[in-house]
Amino acid sequence: MLKKYIPPANILFMVLLLMASGMIFLPPHARAQNTQEGHINSFVYHRFGNSRYPSTNITMETFKEHLQFLKENNYRVITLGEAAELLDSPAQIPQKTAVLTVDDGYKSFITHAVPLLEKYGYKATIFVCTKYVGRSGYLSWSDIRSLRKKGYEFGNHSHSHEHFLNLSDAQTRREFKEDLSRSEDLFHRHLGYQPDLYCYPYGEYNPDMQEILKNRGYKAAAAQKSGVIYTGSDHYALPRFPMTSTYGEIEKFRSKARMKALPVINEKPRNPEIKGENPPGLTLRIDPSAINPQGLQCFVNGRKNCKITRRRDTELIIEVEAKDKLTTRRTLYTITAPSKDGTRWKWYSHLWVNTQYGE
Ligand SMILES: [Zn+2]
Repeated sequence: MLKKYIPPANILFMVLLLMASGMIFLPPHARAQNTQEGHINSFVYHRFGNSRYPSTNITMETFKEHLQFLKENNYRVITLGEAAELLDSPAQIPQKTAVLTVDDGYKSFITHAVPLLEKYGYKATIFVCTKYVGRSGYLSWSDIRSLRKKGYEFGNHSHSHEHFLNLSDAQTRREFKEDLSRSEDLFHRHLGYQPDLYCYPYGEYNPDMQEILKNRGYKAAAAQKSGVIYTGSDHYALPRFPMTSTYGEIEKFRSKARMKALPVINEKPRNPEIKGENPPGLTLRIDPSAINPQGLQCFVNGRKNCKITRRRDTELIIEVEAKDKLTTRRTLYTITAPSKDGTRWKWYSHLWVNTQYGE
């Protein structure tokens, strides 16, 4: 007979697991230290294992490497809906939190991605265009119902996947609302609920569209600008890092998963549409406690073709402007800086949409 009580191996394992996840044994102050500033690294995928479309595809080998990295580094993978709620609640966001989102609702999600996600025990948020559901190459309503039962989250990616900004402001509002009604009706008819997450087609939006979503009860909307979600993020333009053949290599994924948000207190203009001067100027007020301002850098669609002007010395206000006119439909200004202690990079992107150009 044993003199001492030895807990069974499975209980020890559970305790270790709970300790590792920070659920027990951490006094409040220790947990606070462990949370950093509440950053959520989110990623957007489109197609899986379909090399015919390299600009929107991720190979299965690379996708597996992403999931393996998240697992080995103890990331908590949550849905975008959970992320939006965490941003609203005073509860702090655990360190190393990731969100996997999938746009357009292609069939390869269920045939290729789901078996792997199930192996790793991760969920994802999928944005579907209701007009395309059930067409060849796309998920069907019954696929979506069965995936929802397994815990996958589905949000609205519009009915028609239109370029809403190609219209006048008044027409954009009207068309956007009509399109929302069509997609919401189909969500109700086939799934029995009102979606509360939205994803802008092509990542294109303006403040009117954001306001409409808010008024219709959406709790968040996903954009297509790279960046890290944090407590100061605009809920109706949440950033995501794109994961494709070009951007999805494991080294790039690793650095994006470790990236922190550059805390922008104020941004002018907020509207992505280029309404006046081209190249447009972007004014940002940044939290000076978070970064080393000497290390600020800017990029235009990934190229260092821009300048940063420090507007005031007392506060960290900068103006960012491309050196050349923006001549593509969508352009990202990306601003990065090292953290004060130099151990992390911080990232912020602003999207510009020039409606004079096609896709
Ligand atoms: Zn899309």
